[in-house]
Amino acid sequence: MNLDRNNLPKPEICMQEIKNWLSQRPEPPKAYLHAFGCQLNVADGENLSGILQAMGYVMTDDVKQASLILYHTCAVRENAEDRVFGTLGSIKKLKQENPALIICVTGCMTAQKQVADKIAKSYRYVDIVLGTSAVNRLAQMLYAHMHGLRYAQDIETVIDIPENLEPLRESKFKASVPIMYGCNNFCTYCIVPYVRGRERSRKPENIVSEVKKLIQDGYKEIMLLGQNVNSYGKDLDIKITFPELLRELNKISGEYWIRFMSSHPKDATPELMDCILECEHVAKHLHLPVQSGSNEILKRMNRNYTVEKYLSQVNYIREKNPDFSLTTDLIIGFPDESEQDFQATLALVKQVKYDNMYSFIYSKRTGTKAASMLDSISDSEKSRRMQELLAVQREISVENNKRFIGKILTVLCDGESKKRSGHMSGRSSENMLVEFAGNADMLGKFLKIKITDSRSNCVIGEII
Ligand code: SF4
Repeated sequence: MNLDRNNLPKPEICMQEIKNWLSQRPEPPKAYLHAFGCQLNVADGENLSGILQAMGYVMTDDVKQASLILYHTCAVRENAEDRVFGTLGSIKKLKQENPALIICVTGCMTAQKQVADKIAKSYRYVDIVLGTSAVNRLAQMLYAHMHGLRYAQDIETVIDIPENLEPLRESKFKASVPIMYGCNNFCTYCIVPYVRGRERSRKPENIVSEVKKLIQDGYKEIMLLGQNVNSYGKDLDIKITFPELLRELNKISGEYWIRFMSSHPKDATPELMDCILECEHVAKHLHLPVQSGSNEILKRMNRNYTVEKYLSQVNYIREKNPDFSLTTDLIIGFPDESEQDFQATLALVKQVKYDNMYSFIYSKRTGTKAASMLDSISDSEKSRRMQELLAVQREISVENNKRFIGKILTVLCDGESKKRSGHMSGRSSENMLVEFAGNADMLGKFLKIKITDSRSNCVIGEII
């Protein structure tokens, strides 16, 4: 059944009622939450965990212990959806064993009506289905469920931006801060604008005060998030650009870095590049997703820039700093991508010499324009192109990484090395993965590391 949100008490009243209710239990109930997909989804997941905790739940990593299970889903690739359906299938038994268990599915995947309907029809043990406005609506839906509603669904996008949230952050030293929601770009392969709605920017004063508080609390790396941070502020009444926001944040005193993603090349300006180079707290790395090196494919993707414009941006920043670190995203096998188009992509990669890339074989998303485009390229040919691209990038990364040997990099230690025992790892300002002998006491600290060796995916060094 669909709910009329106007008939429910306000979220804060629902939260208080649920809190009172749960506090009567002999011990606090446990909640399990898993966020699939991008960093914005992970940030949503931290906000949802914060809401559950404020209502009286204790978060658990063990799904079998939970009285409430929440999956915050992703719709960008089909295999992400398949994983969610597989996961839902695997917890059916838990609901059979414990009918009081509450199962919620939220996020981009369930914002699509056909998916929400499929869950309502085929996964009847799911109790609550919400779209991308889960942060705004979770408390009300739980309230309705606790008042006897067997199945609650609301997949409409709420345009209000939730403020004053208290996310339950996974890291004690790295924090994500969404600065805007939604997207206006309608790249033809992408479902995001349909499920997350149009661009809505947070007010700069709210962002600045959140970042200030995080830095006071000891956070060392702040990741500003948006589908296209470069169009930040365009929808606000006051005049502010993304580089202006970065410069405001850069005034905060303390020891910290600011990173951001994603950055659409059509809106990346010289002003942004200058800001990155000049602001001491802004990390010296730019992720600029090009997606293809063919103007014909870029046009069909509706990316609104040409290879020439993209290269002029790369040249602008590399002329000021020849070693400036660039990474990108690429889609291989977009419908009817010809061999010539693919060769153009390879040529671009060789010319820019990215430090790293995230490449994907095109995945058709129902509801997008590209889903109806004809595609005569076989899967095996797409895989061959992908392998060729990866081999080219591997060689470039090996060469690029050598430039750090002998240099001293500042590194934020963020975990144990996955490959070398007794070693820790972290990222430099340039976003380079650095590994060094160390121990867990170094977590969350900035360290000076002298680089002594390099690999294709990291550099090795010693603390000085
Ligand atoms: S910019 Fe394009 S790829 Fe990125 S979220 Fe918007 S539509 Fe999707």
